[in-house]
Amino acid sequence: MRACSKCYHNFVARITKQISERVTLLTDAPENPEGKYVVYWMQMFKRVEFNHALNFAIQEANKRKLPLIVYEGLKYYYPWASDRIHTFILEGVEEKRKEFAKRGIKYIFYLQKNESSPKHVVAKLAEKAALLVTDDFPCFIIPKHNEKIAERLKIPVYAVDSNGIIPMSKFEKEEYAAYTIRPKIKKLLPDYLKPFKEEKPLVASLDLQIDCPDTEVTSRNISKLVSECAIDHSVPPSPIYHGGTANGRKRLKKFIEEILPNYAETRNKPEIDGSSRLSAYLHFGFLSPLEIALAVLEADAPQESKDAYLEELIVRRELSYNFTRHNPRYDSLDALPEWVHETMRKHANDKREKIYSLEELENAKTHDELWNAAQREMLITGEMHNYVRMLWGKNVIAWTPSYKEAFDILGHLNNKYCLDGRNPNSYAGILWCFGKHDRPWVERPVFGTIRYMSSASTGKKFNSKKYIEWTKSLANGRFPEETMD
Ligand SMILES: Cc1cc2nc3c(=O)[nH]c(=O)nc-3n(C[C@H](O)[C@H](O)[C@H](O)COP(=O)(O)OP(=O)(O)OC[C@H]3O[C@@H](n4cnc5c(N)ncnc54)[C@H](O)[C@@H]3O)c2cc1C
Repeated sequence: MRACSKCYHNFVARITKQISERVTLLTDAPENPEGKYVVYWMQMFKRVEFNHALNFAIQEANKRKLPLIVYEGLKYYYPWASDRIHTFILEGVEEKRKEFAKRGIKYIFYLQKNESSPKHVVAKLAEKAALLVTDDFPCFIIPKHNEKIAERLKIPVYAVDSNGIIPMSKFEKEEYAAYTIRPKIKKLLPDYLKPFKEEKPLVASLDLQIDCPDTEVTSRNISKLVSECAIDHSVPPSPIYHGGTANGRKRLKKFIEEILPNYAETRNKPEIDGSSRLSAYLHFGFLSPLEIALAVLEADAPQESKDAYLEELIVRRELSYNFTRHNPRYDSLDALPEWVHETMRKHANDKREKIYSLEELENAKTHDELWNAAQREMLITGEMHNYVRMLWGKNVIAWTPSYKEAFDILGHLNNKYCLDGRNPNSYAGILWCFGKHDRPWVERPVFGTIRYMSSASTGKKFNSKKYIEWTKSLANGRFPEETMD
């Protein structure tokens, strides 16, 4: 199942106005002078602080002395919708309701369970709104959502970019690789890597009576709610990662205090708890990269570790966002550079030593224990360690009859099981295995000049035996705090 990657880019071409570095006006409709409120439709930045979209919505409401309503919905029919993804999102709802209430803001959360549930809720809510603000996210289903809502509504619709530390609009075209975007980021960073001014609403909206479905979500009813949704119930919730900003911040604190000081060394050691494991919190917007980066800057840790971490969080991550924003073919092999196509053409018919089906791969049933361990980690926890993720992708290229099949399998498994899937990093990370954002290496069968990684050599760079054992213990129901150093 693929999201329509071209839509965003066709749509962007039609965008009427870039209002500021982060704000784009998606319609040319006039404001509703009778509007009773401003709506912020929260789609990807699921947080109350460090949120440029929320801030902009508050500013617009304040300018008009109107109350602000925050609406968040969860539908049952997005690609790969499962108990795992739904649970992670729902775990962040109750805390948002409390936090918004503290700020006097009405927050509505609607869980659309199945076909017979009410539809077009945002459009109905917008009928009495002066204008609507939403999140600008450059891939998966969000560009299409924004296109549709802009077509449907007769009021101004603004999309706000709160994805990265630097606004996506600061990079006007697709960057070739990390080495081309890095100097630009370095130059711009001092202007953006600074504390955030949170806006406060002037008019409270808590007591407004709004005709809109609103689902009560508490920690006690999440599993029941999830079981009632028409989604894939075969992918269970993560036993380790729990959604929400508070859980993200708990992990951030542990990372800053215990892991960051040695990150430069431990990040490539999947057998220990040595990286941030914050990518799922970043993907769902529970944490903003700015909040994390500021915490890293202030941390008591060696500069080498801080630099190594910020390279990943800012340079690598913002390169991915730049890629999906500017490349309409981000979800296909067509997004690869010409040198890759050339080498793939030459090696397309090379004999593959082993061929595995999707089912064998999905169930971690290959001859390669290290690969199976990585797959197991993903199946069980909803995350796969950075270092083995590269190897995971490379091996699927070696074990499938064609590059296209490898690409489709990788995209499907990554997006189905990983909490941080369906993100710009997902598309860029998978294509990286095929040479995107990389350079040619020594020529060899199947891979041609695409960089090759083998389990035999990668497995020697860390304690792979321990990692394999750890994933087996996960399969037996023992989870990190007990099993990882
Ligand atoms: C085949 C493949 C698939 C991938 N799929 C995803 C995905 O679905 N979602 C996802 O967020 N990342 C993906 N990545 C990138 C990377 O593997 C993850 O971001 C990382 O494993 C997250 O773990 P962490 O939070 O502990 O990372 P840390 O090492 O703590 O890094 C900090 C943050 O930097 C960012 N980051 C780290 N590595 C990269 C990278 N290579 N590219 C872009 N940003 C990076 C992430 O936001 C991460 O949370 C993929 C990489 C590959 C090779």
